Amino acid sequence: MRTALTNGRLLAGEGIVSGQTLLLAGSRIEALVDPKDSRCRGSEVVDLGGQLLLPGFIDVQVNGGGGVLFNDDPSPESIRTIGEAHRRFGTTGFLPTLISDDLETIERAIAATQTCLDTGMRGVLGIHIEGPFLNLARRGVHDPKHLRPLDDSLVSLLCRLRDGRTVLTLAPEMTTPEIIAKLAAGGILVSAGHSEASFAETTEAIARGLRGFTHLFNGMARLDPRAPGIVGAALYDSDTWCGIIVDGHHVDPIMLQLALRCKRHERFMLVTDAMPTVGSANSSFVLQGRTISVVDGICRDENGTLAGTALDMAGAVRNAVSLLGLDIATAARMASQYPADFLGLGHELGRIAPDYLANLVLMDDDLKVQKTWIEGQASV
Ligand SMILES: [Zn+2]
Repeated sequence: MRTALTNGRLLAGEGIVSGQTLLLAGSRIEALVDPKDSRCRGSEVVDLGGQLLLPGFIDVQVNGGGGVLFNDDPSPESIRTIGEAHRRFGTTGFLPTLISDDLETIERAIAATQTCLDTGMRGVLGIHIEGPFLNLARRGVHDPKHLRPLDDSLVSLLCRLRDGRTVLTLAPEMTTPEIIAKLAAGGILVSAGHSEASFAETTEAIARGLRGFTHLFNGMARLDPRAPGIVGAALYDSDTWCGIIVDGHHVDPIMLQLALRCKRHERFMLVTDAMPTVGSANSSFVLQGRTISVVDGICRDENGTLAGTALDMAGAVRNAVSLLGLDIATAARMASQYPADFLGLGHELGRIAPDYLANLVLMDDDLKVQKTWIEGQASV
């Protein structure tokens, strides 16, 4: 059975197009056609009411949602709950993200993700393991008792996920360039974060396969005129990707606008770094024994340290437009096409184009989510 999505404004090709009908066949996009195309007859027709149809959002950093923190119970059920909570905000692909924890919890999280992939749980693209190989001085809310260097003995554990993608956030100074090369060779997408690596250390890591930077600016040594450091290296290098939290609190929007002038927009990804309160009525949660409260949309621990976000992807896209001055097409691509490319999934995810998976989000003029599709299946 075909579905014909008509009367929408679609982000496809070079920009936003109107007057075209999108045909879905099963889980995939079949074609973008004239509404009079014969294939529209006999299709289930969905009138989009002139609203904006975008590629479904892809979030590579999601700690929790729907009242669940992945670290608390790294199970397939938790991943399902988190995915459903974020889907309401347009996320159709995500990496459940485990913050620094013990090795047994990391093993369980990888096994749970593998089960989701084995059973075809829609929207699960892999796992993001954030830490524990992080610099104590830039730990943020990561529990110091879990932090440790990364040696050879842990490489096979970290490469254990057979399918999907594994993103590993580490501080380059907590391991060696050789191990970064091994991880990259093992299919891991290594991302630098919670780090005080120097410009030279970071550049060396890039040469060995470092692929990205986790929440650029946050959890990193500051950009210093005499020591460009990890932030300087992230902005100087033209090929690596940068995850950015655009909530108006984690980073001053001016700093993000400066970053956007340093390298092409294709190398930036909107991430939520979301905590359990997203898609939940709760305004607080417990993170490894510490109470985190959301006040004025900001997650902080008892000491006032930022502890992830209460941001959802639709909000991130709106903020990218309102705070960073981006056009809707660019903001949407930072939430879909560019993270898909980072994950090496850009051949079938993140674009509205023939043969791509039918992962879509419908937004109104206020950029509020009206409906989503994952692999052709609709839900509100
Ligand atoms: Zn972090």
